[in-house]
Amino acid sequence: MHIPISCEFFPPKSDEGAAKLRAIHLRLAETLKPEYFSVTYGAGGSTQERTFTTVREIQMASSVPAAPHLSCIGSTRAGIADILDQYRALDIRRIVALRGDLPSGMRDPGDFRYANELVAFIREHAGDWFHIEVAAYPEFHPQAPNATADLEHFKRKVDAGANGAITQYFYSIEAYSRFVDDCERLQIDIPIVPGLMPISNYTQLARFSDACGADLPRWLRKRLEAFGDDMDSLRAFGHDVVVELTADLISAGAPGLHFYTMNQADSIIALCRDAGAQPSHNG
Ligand code: FAD
Repeated sequence: MHIPISCEFFPPKSDEGAAKLRAIHLRLAETLKPEYFSVTYGAGGSTQERTFTTVREIQMASSVPAAPHLSCIGSTRAGIADILDQYRALDIRRIVALRGDLPSGMRDPGDFRYANELVAFIREHAGDWFHIEVAAYPEFHPQAPNATADLEHFKRKVDAGANGAITQYFYSIEAYSRFVDDCERLQIDIPIVPGLMPISNYTQLARFSDACGADLPRWLRKRLEAFGDDMDSLRAFGHDVVVELTADLISAGAPGLHFYTMNQADSIIALCRDAGAQPSHNG
């Protein structure tokens, strides 16, 4: 089945990591022909320089456009305007606009409180130059008071000018389908692309999931726990779980697939192959 694919990387910390990532994005570009590669932005702008360098490298070296993540909490309007101008000079056309989380110890939230304010600012500053993606949470954001409020807050980002959304990862397709249905009821008509996290390390996945509010269903936790140190069996099982989820999402009509690659290529290529996901561009 043809479906647009996008892949997310984090900016490497060393020259060695940068060389490794170069080989990975070139391989993914050739094999999966993704619509874009996105690059994360550390809390409070902590990776600002490395995100920029990685984005520039991908934009120059790969046939796939780069899309920087940009979080606004702790930032000033002037600082964000400066970053947007730098990306525009590189001919970057897509941004993943986020609130982010204030790093511990940082008290000043800066000029922005929520991601909808960043989306509005990007439109005010750069008009329609950027295609803006925002974050969506089928299992709801951990700080949201309730599901209804979280959906209304999501709608504010769309009303402010977001063109598309990428979800937090999940392992329950029902959560995604219900979220998409709820959005339709609220007349939210932007594509909501599911974010997919491969399973390769239980401890790391459990830590991430607890921190970001993604639900690891009990049956999945128990199965993963039972593999103990047997990483090969865990990875084989995790691969099957994510292949099934990916294939179900394609059948359910998901408008695209966004992979949290963890700067790996092989696992993502194998997932797409086994789930029958063939690349297509939607423009
Ligand atoms: P918002 O949409 O602003 O929502 C944050 C919380 O505030 C929610 O609980 C929402 O319900 C509530 N809220 C929103 N608007 C209002 C309002 N007007 N009044 C009251 N409450 C409101 N983090 C990074 O640091 N770097 C990254 O690169 C990064 N990439 C990500 C990519 C994806 C696809 C996803 C899903 C998340 C990513 N994150 C990243 C994590 C994200 O920054 C955190 O989840 C953060 O806590 C919320 O960001 P947001 O943009 O979703 O915020």
